Amino acid sequence: MKINPIHIIGGGLAGSEAAWQLAESGIHVVLHEMRPNRNTQAHKSSNLAELVCSNSFRSDDTYFNAVGLLHEEMRRLNSLIMLSADSNKVPAGGALAVDRDDFSQQVSKTLINHPMVTLDYNEITTLPDDWEQVIIATGPLTSPALTDEIIKLTGEKNLAFFDAIAPIIQINSIDFDIAWYQSRYDKAGPGGNGKDYINCPLSKEQFEGFIDNLIQGDKVDFKDWEKSTPYFEGCLPIEVMAERGRETLRFGPMKPIGLTNPNTGKRSHAVVQLRQDNALGTLYNMVGFQTKLKYGAQETIFRTIPGLNNAEFSRLGGIHRNTFINSPRLLDSTLRLKKSPRFRFAGQITGVEGYVESSAIGLLAGKFAAAEKLNKSFDLKSIRPPETTAHGALLSYITEGAKAETFQPMNINFGLLPAANENSLTNIPKKLRKKEKRKLISERALFDLGLWKTTYQNFLN
Ligand SMILES: Cc1cc2nc3c(=O)[nH]c(=O)nc-3n(C[C@H](O)[C@H](O)[C@H](O)COP(=O)(O)OP(=O)(O)OC[C@H]3O[C@@H](n4cnc5c(N)ncnc54)[C@H](O)[C@@H]3O)c2cc1C
Repeated sequence: MKINPIHIIGGGLAGSEAAWQLAESGIHVVLHEMRPNRNTQAHKSSNLAELVCSNSFRSDDTYFNAVGLLHEEMRRLNSLIMLSADSNKVPAGGALAVDRDDFSQQVSKTLINHPMVTLDYNEITTLPDDWEQVIIATGPLTSPALTDEIIKLTGEKNLAFFDAIAPIIQINSIDFDIAWYQSRYDKAGPGGNGKDYINCPLSKEQFEGFIDNLIQGDKVDFKDWEKSTPYFEGCLPIEVMAERGRETLRFGPMKPIGLTNPNTGKRSHAVVQLRQDNALGTLYNMVGFQTKLKYGAQETIFRTIPGLNNAEFSRLGGIHRNTFINSPRLLDSTLRLKKSPRFRFAGQITGVEGYVESSAIGLLAGKFAAAEKLNKSFDLKSIRPPETTAHGALLSYITEGAKAETFQPMNINFGLLPAANENSLTNIPKKLRKKEKRKLISERALFDLGLWKTTYQNFLN
């Protein structure tokens, strides 16, 4: 019997990893990559899995850093991206950095020489009806024609825009001797209880110092091709608002009205509000705090806000061009489009952020597609990695944990992994020092990943 190939669109980090996972399961893959026939604004070569900017895969610390944990899980799941990164390391302290050309060439050669992979160097502009199973992994710079197709397919209004990303903070790093829970005017709103926001108060003096820091802080420049895209007035960076007028923020995201500081019984001069960001309630985003400040400047300046002096950031703010879909609304729990399940999405287009996260979602898309192809009694629940693993936590966030209305791209971080979990043998005690907690979470993740790997293999056989 002739088995139809699986079509993967986009030979970047996610598409290459997905192709490898499928090919290694004995499934024929056609990998469509438009470069070098048609280029993006950022890619420079014809290699698969090109790194468009930094050559770093960030921290390689398995037990104390969430991205290091994701690396290790990927290694244990036979990742081509990790194999190629490890073979082409350059010195970078605790980080995993690579020789970018050698890295991409190794990925390219491995796939080009694989008997189950066929390369097609064409831009895909329409989605043929006779492609039975498709993985779309065209990344943040998806070509305009395909972006239009995806808009039609998903029913979304727009996919490519300036991402205004506000920082996200881990709740256990907020000082509740200073901060308090309250919704403005105690309004409960739909699904709320009148105490839905965390509020951090600033005195006049603290506010003035904060505005000076914002105006003077180091900012990231736009790339040339980004300059033609205007800001949306509705999501101006906070430093741009501060430059327009020293009081602007007190009438915008830092307005204090309707909020009473329980420590003084009075209204504060200004307030920073944080809103719950995930279903677990471990992450809170800084409302209206999109910014182009450099990461180091953000950490320093935001930690001057009372209540946030020891803030741990799960994500820092940013503004850049991006293309991603609203995964919590559109995808099922194995990354298939709910409306049309022959399409699966992978990589940055699903709303994860970064090389490693994009590759990890490519790896899962490949494994899920293989399971679907090889086992007709495909059961969504049994092939998802548990959310106690870094892979499972990231997948869970993008497909169901995040709120669809405010969905923004996400890096892996410990705030996504639950402390307690009914499906895991280990719950993490609450009263542990941060380092001990991280180690336990990572050990549990690797243990649970091992169990899931066996379940997955049994499912295929
Ligand atoms: C300017 C910029 C800088 C970045 N810097 C960093 C960084 O320093 N560190 C970091 O971790 N992340 C960075 N990112 C994010 C990074 O791009 C992604 O994390 C990662 O490359 C995404 O992997 P992906 O496989 O989803 O997409 P990509 O790696 O971009 O791969 C998508 C592939 O699809 C191809 N393609 C697009 N449209 C079509 C089509 N219609 N037909 C066929 N092929 C198509 C593209 O040519 C590309 O090869 C940056 C992103 C941008 C845009």
